[in-house]
Amino acid sequence: MRLRKQLCPACNKEKIWVNILKATVKSEGIYKCIKCGLKGMIPIPSDSLAQGLYESIAHDFDTVKAEMASRSIDYYHSLINRYVSKEPQEMKLLDIGAGLGYYSNAFGHLGMQVTYLDGDPISVAFAEKYQKSISTFYYGSAEDYLSSSQTTYDVIFCRHFIEHAFLPNHMITFMLSKLKPDGIIVLETDNNDSSEVLMHPDSYVYWRNVYLEDYDVSDLKRLLKLKVTAISKRNTHWWAFNLRNIEQLVINNSGRVLLKKDYYLGDSYLWPNIGDYKNKVYDEMDNMTQNYIEYIGKTGEGGGMLVLFTHK
Ligand SMILES: [Zn+2]
Repeated sequence: MRLRKQLCPACNKEKIWVNILKATVKSEGIYKCIKCGLKGMIPIPSDSLAQGLYESIAHDFDTVKAEMASRSIDYYHSLINRYVSKEPQEMKLLDIGAGLGYYSNAFGHLGMQVTYLDGDPISVAFAEKYQKSISTFYYGSAEDYLSSSQTTYDVIFCRHFIEHAFLPNHMITFMLSKLKPDGIIVLETDNNDSSEVLMHPDSYVYWRNVYLEDYDVSDLKRLLKLKVTAISKRNTHWWAFNLRNIEQLVINNSGRVLLKKDYYLGDSYLWPNIGDYKNKVYDEMDNMTQNYIEYIGKTGEGGGMLVLFTHK
């Protein structure tokens, strides 16, 4: 995709991309919008790279994951209830990028009528086999579904998916077009302002290898300064937002933000699937690193972000 001369999908300003990091082998570099600070990989590589990405995570049904999802969904439900005054049985929910379906299924357990949507065949097959509280399955691209379906929803749940969209602004517009007038969208993505992932021993090694391989950056100071780790070619993360430009993205595409917050790796409700991982490595950290990670979890620099929004 040729995006260099395209509007920034967060702030809608034109031709304001500056290259901040060059790739080692192929032509995809990392660019930054000088108006809003959105960072992105330009041009976005062929989506064939996503093939097989999730093969390693879909195996047997995991009761621990299901319990964690159930606890998370109780928390999401309490948030949703602040803005949507309906019983779960009266709510239709669309889960975009629903993956293995643990969250969809937990919403279904509450009584909601859940539509599962994902473009990865292995994930869809897994969810259809195991997640029996989901009402409807859709296998295909979010854009195709959102532009063809006539159904509207009380809740659209879009967890860690917007960074994979070629055009995040179109996704926001599409989602709002499928949202009931009194409905709510739950959007989450990585927080690019966070340095947390680089201070965490395991995730540091992971990201160091990504940037060493794809961009020839092995210098931690440089990575901390560039703040690009929400972008990852191997995970098909094309865009990196922070709390400011994610709000701009919503506002500029006719949405109204109701709540925005960051959260840190291993948050017991919002990022529990790496909870064990956090505990495992926590013992290996020195006090100063532990304190730092707790600190950034409280200062808008947590690794993840949650935004609730509705129609303008
Ligand atoms: Zn911008």
